[in-house]
Amino acid sequence: MNNSAMETLKTCPLCSGNKIGNLWNIEKRGTEIYVEKCAVCGLIFQNPRPLDPNQFYEEDYYSGKASYSYSRNSDEDLPMWDARLSNMEVAIKKRSNNRILDIGCATGDLLLAASKRGWECWGVDVSSHAVKEASRKVKNAKILTGEIFDCDLPENYFDVITLFEVLEHIANPIALLQKINSLLAPGGIIVIQTSNVNSFKGKIQGKNFYYFEPGHLIYYSVNTLRFLLKKTGFKEKEMWIGSELDLKTELKVFSMYYSRIYIFLKKIFNKVIFGDFTAGTVMVVYGRKNL
Ligand SMILES: [Zn+2]
Repeated sequence: MNNSAMETLKTCPLCSGNKIGNLWNIEKRGTEIYVEKCAVCGLIFQNPRPLDPNQFYEEDYYSGKASYSYSRNSDEDLPMWDARLSNMEVAIKKRSNNRILDIGCATGDLLLAASKRGWECWGVDVSSHAVKEASRKVKNAKILTGEIFDCDLPENYFDVITLFEVLEHIANPIALLQKINSLLAPGGIIVIQTSNVNSFKGKIQGKNFYYFEPGHLIYYSVNTLRFLLKKTGFKEKEMWIGSELDLKTELKVFSMYYSRIYIFLKKIFNKVIFGDFTAGTVMVVYGRKNL
């Protein structure tokens, strides 16, 4: 495929409305990003958009060499993932024989923490480099390369399916969430983390909002993320701004990065929510598969 091939949408990828119009043209690292907004549901998205958004995520992205890298030190992040898994165990009311599928599992940090808690681990990533690294790190995990639609995965099987910083890369979110719904066991949950384009930072930074990236196709808000969940058969269990962890746990797992006072103040800041506007930027939502 020609890497620069583009497609132009005639309708909104969330509500199929045809009242879509240009919001901004942005240049990021030599790539033009055309941002449009749907007048019906408020979705903000790239249009026209790259047919192959994965072109922006080669080996350098995962190894930390690129300036926009997904790079972390696994060992340092283990306590954070462990706490987040503990939170998921409470939500699914299950502490043994848990099954997780991490979509966009990258180099497998979340799956490593899950396997240490005794979870059955599955992962999918478009990067064969990342899959190789994740498979080396997490023994007994089933980690597949490619798009979820091309992978052979069991239906009505998983307790938790996670999308951490993945949803914004997805061209057809409705098809993806419907697929996830079919893979989840009854009562299973989807866990999504993405950034709110209508957050304080989104408003202040405007067209310079850090989330406008060539590989990010859709920029969600509280409302559009909720609408997507509802449309694809999920009942929202809870949404948090910042992280889903309570203050005590955050002080424990984030104290290696930030001062206690910063964590405390950030926690208060993240409580400020007026409808679609949030003071904090990151959104975490749990959705339960409708029974
Ligand atoms: Zn729309």
